[in-house]
Amino acid sequence: MLASVTEGMPRHLVERAACRLDPDLHAGPDVFTNEPADAKAAREQVAREVCAECPVWASCLFYALDARPESGVWAGLTSDEIATFAGGQGSSTPTPREAA
Ligand code: SF4
Repeated sequence: MLASVTEGMPRHLVERAACRLDPDLHAGPDVFTNEPADAKAAREQVAREVCAECPVWASCLFYALDARPESGVWAGLTSDEIATFAGGQGSSTPTPREAA
């Protein structure tokens, strides 16, 4: 499987991260597994909803903007969306509800 979303996160975030109980939801299946587009979209939407209720959402967002992950859902955003925000192409940083 891909590395867990929480892998590499500071310990104080991991201990409170809502995704710690089901990291595969956020990281997705193994890169050698062909995840159908509709299944991926559904998985990512559920992950976004988990992020919207996460107590460390803001810290996770700042961490993800710095770490620039190549996959997964972080703070309610896909890696592509994070790259867009980190590159200053977004109009503003989203709230947890907007990300979900
Ligand atoms: S905001 Fe989402 S990805 Fe970040 S720690 Fe919380 S549940 Fe995990």
